[in-house]
Parts: sequence; C-alpha cells; structure tokens
Amino acid sequence: MTSYKLGGPAAWYVEISDEAHLSEVLGSLSDDVEVLILGRGTNLLVSDRGFPGLVLRLAGAFLAVTVDPDGLVHAGGAAPMPRVARTAADAGCCGLEFMVGIPGTVGGGVMMNAGGHGSDVAHRLVSAAIIDRSSGIRVERRVEDLDLSYRHSNLGSSDIVVSALFRTDPCGSSEAEERIREITRWRKEHQPGGTFNAGSVFKNPAGDAAGRLIDRAGLKGLRCGGVAVSEMHANFLVADEHATAQDVWNLIWSVRRRVAESEGVWLTPEIRFAGPFERSGDEDLGPGAEA
Ligand SMILES: Cc1cc2nc3c(=O)[nH]c(=O)nc-3n(C[C@H](O)[C@H](O)[C@H](O)COP(=O)(O)OP(=O)(O)OC[C@H]3O[C@@H](n4cnc5c(N)ncnc54)[C@H](O)[C@@H]3O)c2cc1C
Repeated sequence: MTSYKLGGPAAWYVEISDEAHLSEVLGSLSDDVEVLILGRGTNLLVSDRGFPGLVLRLAGAFLAVTVDPDGLVHAGGAAPMPRVARTAADAGCCGLEFMVGIPGTVGGGVMMNAGGHGSDVAHRLVSAAIIDRSSGIRVERRVEDLDLSYRHSNLGSSDIVVSALFRTDPCGSSEAEERIREITRWRKEHQPGGTFNAGSVFKNPAGDAAGRLIDRAGLKGLRCGGVAVSEMHANFLVADEHATAQDVWNLIWSVRRRVAESEGVWLTPEIRFAGPFERSGDEDLGPGAEA
C-alpha cells in the first residue's frame, strides 16, 4: 500500500468511509493503540516487521473533489492531488496545476505542505478540517494556523486531515491544461517514472538541492541490497523486487553520512517512517536526524 511496495502488515487496518464512520472507529479505540494515518503511501517507508497498531485510510466520501462557482475547491482528505489539479483545470480554475505531479492525497499534502513547480499547498490552502484522534473533536483550521513552511506543518500524529479548501484564480481551462501537460512532461524527463520510489527522500537544504549534493558526492547508483540511488534523480531511491524496507532505511542513512563527509551538509529526511527498523549507527550521526 506504499509506493515503495515494501514493508510488513499492520496489526489492524480500517478503511474509513465517512466522518460518521471515523467517529465510530475513533470512539472505540483505547488511547494506547498506536494509529497511523495512511494516504497513498507516497512519502512513507513502512518497516518489514509492519506497523504494530491501527492503520486508518480515508476512502469513500473523503475522495470527493468539487469546485464552487466562485472557484473554491473543496477536496476530501483522501482525494489524490493529481485529481484535484485536473478537476480544477477542467472547471477553468488555475493555481492547483502543481498538484498534478504529486501522487499523494490532499491529507498527506497538507500534512507535508507538499509542493513543486514554484508552488505548494501553503500558497493555495484556505483552511483544512482536522479531527483529533483522541478527542474526536473536529476543527476548521485556517492556513495561518498550520504553520506551513517547506515540507512542514504543525500537524502531529493525532491530527487527521479530513478535508481542505483551496482558492484558485479564474483562467481558461486550456491554459491550466497546458501547464499540466508541461509539468507532466518535465516529470517524465527528470524523474524515474514507473519505478518503486517515494519521490525525494531528503529535504533540500537552504539554497541548495539535496539531489545535487548526492550527485556531487558520487553516490548515483550506490546500492544497498535491492535499493539504489537513482541514476536519473539522485534524491530518489529506487527499489527493485528483491528490496526490503530495511535496505531503504540503511541506504538513506548511509547516503546522509556520505554526503556529510564529502559535502559538509547533513541532509534531513523528508520521508516518514513507520514501525521498527534495525539501527545501522549512521542514523545517530549529525544534527537534525528525525528517525
Ligand atoms: C514519484 C513521486 C513524486 C513526488 N513528488 C513530490 C513533489 O514534487 N513534491 C512533494 O512535496 N512531494 C512529492 N512526493 C512525495 C509525496 O507524494 C507527498 O509528500 C505527499 O504529500 C504524500 O501524500 P500521501 O497521501 O502519499 O501521504 P503518505 O505517504 O501516506 O503519508 C505521509 C505522512 O502524512 C500523514 N498523512 C497522510 N494522510 C493524512 C491525513 N489525511 N491526515 C493526517 N495525516 C496524514 C501520514 O501519517 C504520514 O505521516 C512525491 C512522491 C512520489 C512517489
């Protein structure tokens, strides 16, 4: 269920069809059950030993995307961002085209402040509806209250993004569609499509690109078991059918150490981890390790 196609099973897994179902499930949980909200798993590495708690995945009513006559786009937490981009474009609304290249959900996108091609969720989000896992309370939070910055929000593991509202600018749908085609073309040319990966593994450090540093450190093609640093885009790790999640984990921390040794920069992982991993020692080095 992740784009790496790796990792073990969850102890429990529930697909949530609507808010009433979500309240029912949350109401039946004791506080000691660990919960992981799974979007499309495009920024997530799950341990080979799986996740020892409950995985919740929004589905059903949470997939909806609608556009108001005044150009406000309402999207459920499970709506794939590429679909949000295309629905807005079809309605002659511009500004969300960047989402076409980001294969995650709206919920994952708000959590990560996903972005690319000169924009991000923070640029277009008006507000998001969040349900707290422990209390079940639903609050509408305005974009200013989410502390969104580069691949960061102040949302924690008990916050469930159930929907979001985006503003757009009026434009001809052909203009938006042309921009979508451009972005899709750029992605095909610059990213290893059709492979098992989770997009960029590290955040870009201020004023530089993680991929450039990894490339300059001579790490393209570096392999650990069934996973290798992509030859096409050095910030992507590409898994083959023999890969394990532990291989990805080991390669991430090895790349981070080698880049620090060679380029003097400690990279910070952008991807999220779930479940237990064997420690290699590299993850304890340097500042800012978030594992
Ligand atoms: C080929 C490829 C290209 C990519 N390109 C980009 C890019 O250009 N820019 C970019 O920013 N990212 C990119 N990504 C990464 C990824 O798509 C984004 O980070 C996306 O926002 C993750 O969404 P998801 O639904 O897959 O989240 P998941 O990977 O399922 O989860 C990521 C985190 O969000 C949490 N989460 C998920 N859904 C919810 C929810 N409803 N409520 C609360 N928390 C939630 C999870 O618990 C986890 O902590 C790319 C990934 C791939 C595979």
